[in-house]
Parts: sequence; structure tokens; C-alpha cells
Amino acid sequence: MAKKTGVVKDMRYLRHSAGFGHPESPERLAAIYEMLDNPLMAWKFIEIEPREATHKEIETIHTPSYVEYIAGTAGQSSVYLDPDTATSPESYEIAKLAVGGVCNAIDSVMEKKVDNAFALVRPPGHHAEADSAAGFCIFNNIAIGAMHAILKHHLKKILIVDWDLHHGNGTQHSFYSDPRILYFSTHQYPYYPGTGSLQEIGQGKAEGYTINVPLSVGAGDASFVKIFRKILQPVALKFKPQLVLLSAGFDTYYQDPLGGMRVTADGFAALTRILMNIAESYCNGRFVAVLEGGYHLAGLTQSVKAVLEEMRDDTHYPEEKLASLEKEADENTNHIIKQVISKIKPYWKL
Ligand SMILES: [Zn+2]
Repeated sequence: MAKKTGVVKDMRYLRHSAGFGHPESPERLAAIYEMLDNPLMAWKFIEIEPREATHKEIETIHTPSYVEYIAGTAGQSSVYLDPDTATSPESYEIAKLAVGGVCNAIDSVMEKKVDNAFALVRPPGHHAEADSAAGFCIFNNIAIGAMHAILKHHLKKILIVDWDLHHGNGTQHSFYSDPRILYFSTHQYPYYPGTGSLQEIGQGKAEGYTINVPLSVGAGDASFVKIFRKILQPVALKFKPQLVLLSAGFDTYYQDPLGGMRVTADGFAALTRILMNIAESYCNGRFVAVLEGGYHLAGLTQSVKAVLEEMRDDTHYPEEKLASLEKEADENTNHIIKQVISKIKPYWKL
């Protein structure tokens, strides 16, 4: 039977502009929404209304002075927050709406209104730090969402997977000494933003709770599947998350203009199935994806569609196909898997 899959979808998200010609354009969501508006797709998904997050919610991750600074951009034609990240008159409101969209998606899943959900929001969030915007991101949607799940739904263990091309520095730093969050990231390295080395594994009580898998250019479906199965799956088995969150960036797509990876829409479906299997094993399938990057419009749309169809169980990536795909991984992949495992072994007894 099909699962009930929620989507956060709101035309207001198109009102934030980072400037003419910027890759993080409103056209990204316009293309995804158009795919969802197709009569063959539209009936399948349950729409989740977003809301603007409150300052109190945003301040679980960001400093009050930073939130005030962003509030101060409201109504201004354009403010550069960093060389890559600019606002338009409504960006402050839309950024709050992105956070609130993620919080509402989490509520819908926690309250069993839907089985899983995809927050199709912008601006993205995973580069945003406590006191600064970065890399197209204003507020850290997924980190605030995780805090919302902890505070409102009293969760104690949340897995955040970040398969975006770029390392989610902001998310990592938000929870670097917080063992309630296990942060797992695959990313092109060395590359923007520069963080995400093997040595970064968390600190204090959360040592071992940050897992970085830095990758050379060229990693494709087989590499990602093998990394998820050989590292993430066994760690999740020990961690037993109560909720699985995904920073779903699609800039690892093989034609993405910003990246050098080779993931296909089929590969994203495979990875989604691995995450759903984890969620089904430990937390009744509770899984919320949050859109991050992805700049090849057709590839982004096709990949989001593949993820949504997997989430809804319209397609079901077979175990045998995952196992055979994994066998195609190259030596570079095997090497990085070994390195990561030797680094985290003491904490997870792998
Ligand atoms: Zn990215």
C-alpha cells in the first residue's frame, strides 16, 4: 500500500531572490512545483501548509543579534550577507517560512498525519551558522527543525543525513557537542565551504556523533550506495534514531553545473530507500527530507520526483539491486570507507 507522503509547497518561496542569474533561483522550485502540479502527480501528495517560524524557534540555533540583523533586511532592495548570499525585500519573511515549513513537516510526521514528508523550500539552510549567513543559506532550516523535534516532541535521538554536494558546516557546528544529533555527511572535498574533513568527528559527549565522508570528484550511484550501506547503516543500527532528517541537495547530480559528482535520479531513489529502511527499522518510518542545493533544473526535478516516488512506495528499490550496485564501487570508495570506519570504530564498535 502506498505511503502517505506530505509535501511543503508554497508559491511564496519563489519570492526570495538572491540576485539575477544566481544559481539558487526561484526557477528551481518553480520547476519542481510544475512537476508536482501535473495531474498524474498532484493527487498523490498531501500538501502541508507552511508558517513563519518565530524568533524564539530560530534562536534555538541562531543568535538573537543575527536574527535581528536579518529582520533588518526586510523591505530593502538587496543586502549582501556574504559574497554568495544576498537578500531581496521579502527574504526575511520567506526565510522564516522555510524554517516553519520544515517544522510543520516534522509535526505532520510526528503527529502521524503523514508517514513521511519532503519540505520543498528555499532559501536552503545547511551552510548557515549561528551568527552568519553563508553559501545561499540564511537560516539553518534543518538544524532548527531538529531542535523543534527535540523541544516539541521530546525526541532524544535524531539522525541528520546530508547528501548535498557541499558539506553542511552550519548543521555540523550546531550539534558538534550535542549527542542527541548524529550528523552524517557525504560531500565533495576539498571544496566549498572547506569543512568536513575526516578529522571532524564531534567533541565532548558527542565525539563520534559527527561523521564526515569527504569524496573526490567523480563519485556516482555505486559509491554513495556503498558508503550508505557500509558506514551509515551499521552506525544507525547502534544509534537507533527516533527520526531521520535529510538535507536533500541534488548538486551531486551528474550534470549539475556546480559539482563534479555522477549521481543519477535512480541513485537518489536508491539512497532514499536506504534511509527509509533505517527509518522503518527504528522509528516507524519517520523521515523528513528538506531541500538544499541542486542547480540543474531538469536533473533537480527528475531527482526530486524519484525521491518522492520512493518515499510514497510507488517505486521500491529492491534489496538485490542495492547489493549489486554496491559491488560496482571503485577503489577510491573502498579506501574512504576504510578510513572513515577506522576513525569512528572506537565510538560505534563497528
Ligand atoms: Zn550544495
